[in-house]
Amino acid sequence: GVTPRKGELPVLPPGIQRQTFNTAIEELKRTLGSEHVVINDKPLDDGWYLEHPNTHDAFHLLDPNETVSSAVAYPGSTEEVSAVVKWANKYEIPLWPISMGRNLGYGGAAPRVRGSVVVDLGKRMNRVLNIDPEQCSCLVEPGVSYYKLYEEVQKTGYPLWIDPPDLGGGSVLGNAVDRGVGYTPMGDHFANHCGFEVVLPTGDVIRTGMGALPGPGGEDNPTWQSFQYGYGPYVDGIFTQSNFGIVTKMGLWLMPATEHLTFMVTFPNDDDFEDIIDVIRLLMVRRILGNVPQLRHVIQELAVTGKNREEFYRGEGQIPREVIRQHASKMPCGDCSWIFYGTVYGSQKQIQDTLAVVKREFSRIHGARFIFPDDVPPDHYLHSRVRVCSGVPEIRELEWLNWKKNGAHLFFSPICPTKRQDARKIIDIAARIHKEYEFDLFPTFCIATREMHLIVNIVYDRANQDEKRRAVAAIRKMIDECAEAGYGEYRTHILLADQVAHTYSWNNQALLRFHETLKDSLDPKGILAPGRNGIWPKKYRGQGWEL
Ligand code: ADP
Repeated sequence: GVTPRKGELPVLPPGIQRQTFNTAIEELKRTLGSEHVVINDKPLDDGWYLEHPNTHDAFHLLDPNETVSSAVAYPGSTEEVSAVVKWANKYEIPLWPISMGRNLGYGGAAPRVRGSVVVDLGKRMNRVLNIDPEQCSCLVEPGVSYYKLYEEVQKTGYPLWIDPPDLGGGSVLGNAVDRGVGYTPMGDHFANHCGFEVVLPTGDVIRTGMGALPGPGGEDNPTWQSFQYGYGPYVDGIFTQSNFGIVTKMGLWLMPATEHLTFMVTFPNDDDFEDIIDVIRLLMVRRILGNVPQLRHVIQELAVTGKNREEFYRGEGQIPREVIRQHASKMPCGDCSWIFYGTVYGSQKQIQDTLAVVKREFSRIHGARFIFPDDVPPDHYLHSRVRVCSGVPEIRELEWLNWKKNGAHLFFSPICPTKRQDARKIIDIAARIHKEYEFDLFPTFCIATREMHLIVNIVYDRANQDEKRRAVAAIRKMIDECAEAGYGEYRTHILLADQVAHTYSWNNQALLRFHETLKDSLDPKGILAPGRNGIWPKKYRGQGWEL
């Protein structure tokens, strides 16, 4: 959809007069070149995934006019990023850095503070700076998408894999900085990064890890992508899910290509859920399964066909379990409750040996049935999983959006131990609240050994005000109820950041206060992404900004 604009444009950053803003923008244009600074004054076009806007949140939860920038700047180098930051400090104009802005479901490209200047790093800083086939690593700029990194790695001819998340159009660096996950054994993106270059909120530039030690003759340090920690405090973590710096380069480890087999296991009984979790934990902690497998509810087999909900059910409220059952029974998965998507890696012999163990363990669940890629038609989602789990980017998961007219999604993403009681509690909270607010429940557990990310995809019609209101009310209630039971989100939408940050409240919000101390010392003018992850600079605190 396209939303018309309201009021005088562009929307100004808080506390900035129009005259001052215009002067500041003229100065920024002189610094970057006038074609690299664009005022946000056109109607707000949601576009679609591959032509996403950097003006607002395409998957808006409010009126799109509420989460807009004033302008966007396109720096072409780390030096230019530093210049933009110094400019922002001079005028006290808030910045909102994005790599590519495809963070859909968590806020897209939208700034938390209306009228911020979006710093779109990806448009001009989009090079793969190095691929090292010997130590299996690379060095990327913010604008390198999974598709681009995949192509560049392919071009080298070396047998290396990247690790894409569900959708391959996002930024490799942006995803790691937001602590996203993929599905190969390298699926924890932050854990597999090695070295950052960061522009601090004052404009100073640092390199972390071994990058801090200058290489011979001014070159990059030869160990920058080999050793993560360097010397002294390990600071990389504070530049993830934060507003303490703008990351301009990132090292990342790649995986040597290997043979692999992706499969699905279907389980017929809803009540076996806890037993399934027990088996998965056992396979994960013993490292029999080495990647990030998924456990999905059967309703997702319907959704990922890309059909509209009405093709399955025309009634109000949630699709009844019985209706899901009827449709599933005509599909390759059959009438089942949960579906496990896993992958084993190694030589053919290792794969067969591992698979034998996996089969033995799952055979403890009554009716567990293994389905392999050769068993399903070429358009089945399993083939998409095969690619994602072997390092090939995909956008198949977008098919979900057809579930609703004007489909958009919002992610509810709590973490829980890979244990039966916890999994049960958390899924029950999500199920009850989805029912109350009349959304179909799409739960996916992404299992990273001892812990699972439960990603619940709330699909809503963004042209329907009532659905938007219900989506926000539902997620707010789930956040609160999960927190009461001891579970927290690993990531959330920009508009829910305050609520989530405040659930991490142990010892009278000691952690949040620590973040604020860091914020005030690193960013005294409070220009960098105010409010991101619930961290507000001093001048915003207690001024009614928190939601
Ligand atoms: P993607 O396009 O990969 O989905 P985004 O570029 O939208 O991801 O990044 C997600 C969020 O992470 C952004 O909204 C921003 O807050 C933060 N972010 C992204 N890139 C950077 C960066 N290079 N430096 C600091 N923060 C970043």
